[in-house]
Amino acid sequence: MPRGAGHSLDGQAQALNGVVVDMTGLDTIHEVRSDRVVVDAGAKWSDVLRATLPRGLTPPVLTDYLELTVGGTLSVGGLGGASQHFGAQTDNVLALDVLTPSGELVSCGPAHPVLAGRGRNGIIIRATLRLVPAPETVQWHRLRYSSVAQLVADQRLLIDAGSFDYLEGQLKVRDGRRVRELEAVSHSGASLDGLEFDDADTHVTSYWDFVNRLAASEPVLREAGLRESPHPWCNLFVPDHAVEEVLRHLETEDEDLYSDFGLVLAYPLRPERISALELPAGELVFLVAALRYASDQETARPMVEANDVLTKMVLRAGGTLYLDPL
Ligand SMILES: Cc1cc2nc3c(=O)[nH]c(=O)nc-3n(C[C@H](O)[C@H](O)[C@H](O)COP(=O)(O)OP(=O)(O)OC[C@H]3O[C@@H](n4cnc5c(N)ncnc54)[C@H](O)[C@@H]3O)c2cc1C
Repeated sequence: MPRGAGHSLDGQAQALNGVVVDMTGLDTIHEVRSDRVVVDAGAKWSDVLRATLPRGLTPPVLTDYLELTVGGTLSVGGLGGASQHFGAQTDNVLALDVLTPSGELVSCGPAHPVLAGRGRNGIIIRATLRLVPAPETVQWHRLRYSSVAQLVADQRLLIDAGSFDYLEGQLKVRDGRRVRELEAVSHSGASLDGLEFDDADTHVTSYWDFVNRLAASEPVLREAGLRESPHPWCNLFVPDHAVEEVLRHLETEDEDLYSDFGLVLAYPLRPERISALELPAGELVFLVAALRYASDQETARPMVEANDVLTKMVLRAGGTLYLDPL
């Protein structure tokens, strides 16, 4: 079983009575051209960006956290706030070198089942990834809402308009208060006209600081003792018709299930742009991810139970799972 950075949460990069192949030694960035980069699968996305950004280029879709390996995210899909436009990271692969389960090294196009194959259909050795121009700076809005319905309505409006480069909705509990927030990021100063948020803050930051924003949370989590502790996370694809009900359900959950760090991500995707993943039927789906941080096994238990309830609810509504172990 190949292992990238080992960040998956349910033992996906482990092999009971089997062999684990650590891919992190294969991390060379081979070549950056105006429309593509050739990288070894053990390279992290932060390494890819350090090689491409000086040329003014970026992969179109990045995960929220960049210390994941190229092979690790291509073997699950790889989604982010730009997926509304560009699909998953697996939709932005131009070519692959794959070690097949029968031990053959093949060079192939992006239709190979190793993409989103969760390490079961071979090992990605090298990938050629699409690049697009990177902006130097971005306008980063945090819009706050008084209801789930309005948060979802504005996301529907914005995905239809296609005006923002990055969209990710969030629910969280901070200082005992429920917060509903939409991160809407524009490379070109898109307008907020017509949106129904209550209040907002906006700042301009470098593209690198925006895409690398989670790096700052690592030392904070470590200090709180929550980096290495259990993370009962649950990632689901929810049909558009059920998303408000699911988010309202999440808002009725006990606040202790979130701590000061936990949150729910909820953002829209167009299934037609995502080829390697099993998504619910319909023109629009939402990725809903309950990201919970437990201090120990005891506090993890109710979180795991809450995830089971959530998963059943979403599957009943026609949803599907993301990142689940095969
Ligand atoms: C803090 C954090 C933030 C995240 N944010 C996002 C996000 O925004 N969007 C998103 O989509 N996901 C996100 N994820 C989930 C993440 O994409 C997956 O867990 C990913 O698989 C982790 O990559 P990794 O390098 O740690 O892989 P590992 O955990 O090491 O491996 C994951 C799977 O990939 C397989 N694999 C690894 N390398 C290869 C290879 N070279 N060839 C074939 N198979 C391989 C393994 O066998 C295993 O099945 C996040 C995870 C964390 C911890």
